[in-house]
Amino acid sequence: MFRIETEKEFLSAFRSRDRKHVELPKGTCFPLFVRDYLSWVDPYGVRVFLVFTAPGSKRPTGIAFRRDQQGDKILTPRVCDWCRSPGTSDQVGLLTTDVDSKRRVGVNLCLDLRCNEKLEAAANMTGRSVLDDTQRLIERMARFANEALGIEFSPET
Ligand SMILES: [Zn+2]
Repeated sequence: MFRIETEKEFLSAFRSRDRKHVELPKGTCFPLFVRDYLSWVDPYGVRVFLVFTAPGSKRPTGIAFRRDQQGDKILTPRVCDWCRSPGTSDQVGLLTTDVDSKRRVGVNLCLDLRCNEKLEAAANMTGRSVLDDTQRLIERMARFANEALGIEFSPET
């Protein structure tokens, strides 16, 4: 669990290129307590936002994704790269984000980034604890942020 004290701290979790797109989830109050991570979709359904804390880091990291495959009507099954949940293309699809002004990267993910809820539902059905799965999920988020976007995680606050 982590805590975000102010809106300023919340926004500073995002890279400056993402920050201008960020719209806080409706009804957000500070301080904000986050159990695993925070994800939400903007009111237009175009952007999906993620705020998480990388293992060993004290600062939250935010990423703004864009849904680039709207209008894909073929319901082919896919698997989310982060939680490994299967879904049709209206549930799992390509989310993209800027690396820099010239490059974008895409990754196949749950389009609402509610990976933790899917893991929890799957764990409930088998009676397992969801903690390890959630840990792995956050590690995959951190690896993507680091390897694809070059975001560094510093242990300092
Ligand atoms: Zn997922």
